[in-house]
Amino acid sequence: MIRVTENLRIIRDLLDKAAVSAGRDPASVSLLAVSKKQPLRAILEAADAGQRDFGENFVQEGLEKIAGSRGKGLIWHFIGHLQSNKTRSVAEHFDWVHTVDRLKIARRLSEQRPASRGPLEVCVQVNVDDEASKSGVGVAEAVDLALAVDELPGLRLRGFMCIPAPVRSEALERQAFSRLARIADAARDRGLDIDTLSMGMSGDYGAAIAEGATIVRIGTAIFGPRE
Ligand SMILES: *Cc1c(COP(=O)(O)O)cnc(C)c1O
Repeated sequence: MIRVTENLRIIRDLLDKAAVSAGRDPASVSLLAVSKKQPLRAILEAADAGQRDFGENFVQEGLEKIAGSRGKGLIWHFIGHLQSNKTRSVAEHFDWVHTVDRLKIARRLSEQRPASRGPLEVCVQVNVDDEASKSGVGVAEAVDLALAVDELPGLRLRGFMCIPAPVRSEALERQAFSRLARIADAARDRGLDIDTLSMGMSGDYGAAIAEGATIVRIGTAIFGPRE
């Protein structure tokens, strides 16, 4: 049996230590528990242990978990690839989207966001390694997309997100995360008021925190292997 409560405590402690060794305030790094392909009871256990933010990659699965945990005050982040025919459910039911990578998706989310829920919090996903097979806007276009997203009334631009290509050393991991941090700097220079770098997963959160991550997305290290 996977001990979710115990794992959460261990991970939070490791994140705090990584922040301190990077000279950062541990409170500036928030933990997003990635619960894709994990059962609802694991999410409810994490919620009972005080975890508030959860990430899901698949729309239908996410909607079921949102419904199953209603009333617990959880915050739901969509972190999967988003197809334009699925934007409505995401706009209506999630709190955040980390994977905005084209203006068409951003416009649909903005139009479909119910006014009663306030703006949807969003990050622009950047393909930091310019990999042909990956989603995410190219490095060179990232700031322009962010500027356009920032104009949309149903969205609130929070920052940038990336999923770097796997590499063999922490130095190389840091290079990719550093590219995202430089994009955020460039966006601020263009007048954008952003506070989020969503980067780092179970295997590379140390490098991400050293480069300024404010949200790390951790699945396996909390919940164990996926179903
Ligand atoms: C699955 C996933 C994670 C979590 O990955 P782990 O290696 O299980 O920590 C983080 N971010 C995204 C976008 C994911 O799809």
